[in-house]
Amino acid sequence: MKYSEAKPGRIFILRLEDGDILHEAVEMFACAHRIQAAALIVLGGADEGSKLVVGPEQGRSQPIIPMEHVLTGVHEVAGVGTLFPNASGQPVLHMHIAGGREEKAVTGCIRRGVKVWHVMEVVLWELTEATAQRLPDAATGFELLQACRLKEREVPWKRFLRECDNCAGKRGAQQFPSVTSGQSAKVKSRFGWELESNVQG
Ligand SMILES: [Zn+2]
Repeated sequence: MKYSEAKPGRIFILRLEDGDILHEAVEMFACAHRIQAAALIVLGGADEGSKLVVGPEQGRSQPIIPMEHVLTGVHEVAGVGTLFPNASGQPVLHMHIAGGREEKAVTGCIRRGVKVWHVMEVVLWELTEATAQRLPDAATGFELLQACRLKEREVPWKRFLRECDNCAGKRGAQQFPSVTSGQSAKVKSRFGWELESNVQG
């Protein structure tokens, strides 16, 4: 086990809306509000067609091949997640949700696109002075959380504040056009779904 320390920051209440893509909406919000790290809970509905990663095909073999599950029908979901910057300073949400429909339930990772069905309540606890990052891991090929010290990761951490890709409008230009307080923007999700971003003061 490795660990680092952080301090409590702001708390945000988000209500995601019909058609929002969970991780995209949260990451865009984090960029817009300069949230470097956070812990989150979510509660709401996931639409059919949402995709979950539901484990590796084999437990201990290389390469790791993730299994994908596509939701059939709307599911009631509850999830927990963490948000930390990757090596280039972009905030990345890692979240698992459990979703149920009638007597069946499935739990998985949301990175492939979970589409909100009408409502998703989110409570986001910002973590300030956090030094942890998601960095490429040679053994798994994934970006995994490193509880590193600030002085070792000083440059990427500062880059996040200065030129997060989404905010700077590089890679994220179509995902998050520079929206200022009180405005909203329709953006095309990477998953082909449209979502609307509202930014409030
Ligand atoms: Zn995961």
